[in-house]
This record gives sequence, C-alpha cells and structure tokens, in this order.
Amino acid sequence: MSPSKRLFVFDFDWTLIDADSDYFVFEHLSAELSKIQLDSIGKVQWTDLQQRLLGKLFDRGVSREDIERTLANIPFVPERIEALKLMKEHGSDLYILSDANTVYIETILKAYNIDNLFTGILTNPASFDSKGRLNVTRYHGLDKEPHKCPLPCEPNLCKGLELQKLIDSHPWEQVIYMGDASNDFCPSTRLSRERGDLVLARRGLSLEQRIKERPELVRAETVYWQDAQDVLEVTKDIFFGRDRTAAALGSLSGSTAASSTTSLSTMVDSSSSSSSSSSSSSSIVASPVDEVKPSSTQVLSAVESFDSKMFAQAVKA
Ligand SMILES: [Mg+2]
Repeated sequence: MSPSKRLFVFDFDWTLIDADSDYFVFEHLSAELSKIQLDSIGKVQWTDLQQRLLGKLFDRGVSREDIERTLANIPFVPERIEALKLMKEHGSDLYILSDANTVYIETILKAYNIDNLFTGILTNPASFDSKGRLNVTRYHGLDKEPHKCPLPCEPNLCKGLELQKLIDSHPWEQVIYMGDASNDFCPSTRLSRERGDLVLARRGLSLEQRIKERPELVRAETVYWQDAQDVLEVTKDIFFGRDRTAAALGSLSGSTAASSTTSLSTMVDSSSSSSSSSSSSSSIVASPVDEVKPSSTQVLSAVESFDSKMFAQAVKA
C-alpha cells in the first residue's frame, strides 16, 4: 500500500446528495407513511422506524422496482461527481459512513454509475426478501453491547468508532471527513491537525453548530461549504494547492462567504482554526472523548441527532 494515500470519508444524506434518502422514499411512495415518519421523529429509533414503515409500504403493494426507481430519481449533482472522480483519480480511498442503508446508497450510486469510486460503504445493512419486502437492521445491532459513545451518536451507529478503525488501518497522508449533522460531530473529533486532516462541514446545519459549541474537541482544520460547487473547489485546493484560486483572483482579503470562487483558505472557520492552532502547539493534546462526560440521556441524543430529518421537513415546508 502506498503511504501517500488520502482517505476521504463521507456522510451520505445532505452531504453527498441534497436530500434525505429515508425521507425521499416515503415522500414519493406514500404520503400517509411519510406523515407517520415525520410524526415519529424522536419517538422511535430511526432505523427501527424505517424497518416498520418499509413493512407497511410492502403491505400497500409498493414493489422493489418502485423503491429502486424512486431512489434512482434522487438528484446527484454533477459537481459532486466531478469532485469524487478527482479524488479517486489521485489515488485516494473513498468511503461512505452513513445512517441510511446499503440498498438506498448502492442503488443511488449505481444509478449514476459511480459505485466503483468507493472502497467501502459503512451503513445499516438492508436487503429485499424473495417477495420484494425491504428489510433494514441497525448497523450496531441490539445483540451487541451499546457503544456507549458520550457524543451525540445514534445508538445504532457511532460514526466516530467506525472512522477510527479506518484511520488506524493505514498510514494515511491526510484524512478528510465530510458531513452535515450532529452524528457527524463524533467522527470530526477523531481527526488530526498534525497530519493536516480536514473536516468539511455543511454550513448552516447542526454539525457547524456542534463544532462551534465545542471547538476544542475538533483538532483538525474545519472548512465550511454550502453546495457542490464549494466542495469541488475545496477538492481542487486539496490536490492542486490552496492558493490556486487566490492566485487566479488576486487578493481575496475580506471575503468570508462560501461561493463558487472561494478558495479553501477563505472557507476555513477562523475561530475554530485559531482554537485548534493553540491546542496543537501544546505538547499534550487531550483526547476529546476523555474530556466529555455523558451529559444527556440516550433519548435526548437520539432526538438531537434527527436534525437532518427535521431539515428535510423544513425544506419541504
Ligand atoms: Mg447527513
């Protein structure tokens, strides 16, 4: 294995696609079940809820083909595909780390012929049975000990633990994690400033809020983005140099908003960066997990981590 490879790890819903796949399926196949789904946010564990609702969808005569066709209609923005191909062309390993499920993600990637770009997909297992009923189960099953992560991770998936396994599997040149929601905060704390790792956080959603609440836990540089064009620009900066855009445009001093002409250096959050800088200058960098005491109930954590679902609801409204 080459020691110079980069590792890119992506959340899926509202990160690689501009939608929530769990929500999209029911919104387009059953208005009644879509309403039940939204009304159940925070009341039923999300993966368990999908399993129940998929059973009801099957009972209403919705076929495997209906589900697959609906998933294939979820837009995948061309600039994101261009960014992913750029990463792959430069020898990087790409992983998806998601609270959706294998069928949803693999169907969408195959619809855009980009499934071959990814080394692995870590998400809730799913499969159709012989009658066409889709079943989904928790990634971290009820048959296992709870993962006991004190950060706002779902009981069925601590993304930080899974990212840590990937980080430990190879001497990566750089690790880049991209996400949007509260359950993307834990993996964001696993990155290293010394290695030049990056957190790519979607602006305006709860990952940004979490990072700004606890900047001392995120040691890597944080870059905020709003859309696929921003992500493409950041990707070009990673591979071709962060002064690339600045050199083309001249001075960008005073620019703060992310846009299609914004370089990575102007998208880095200054408060987070300076906080991280001061911590990295210390000879001892405390483990972020060790610093955090369990402060909320599992129920509250679950409710808080449903923010993408709530965002989906807000967008629809
Ligand atoms: Mg997400």
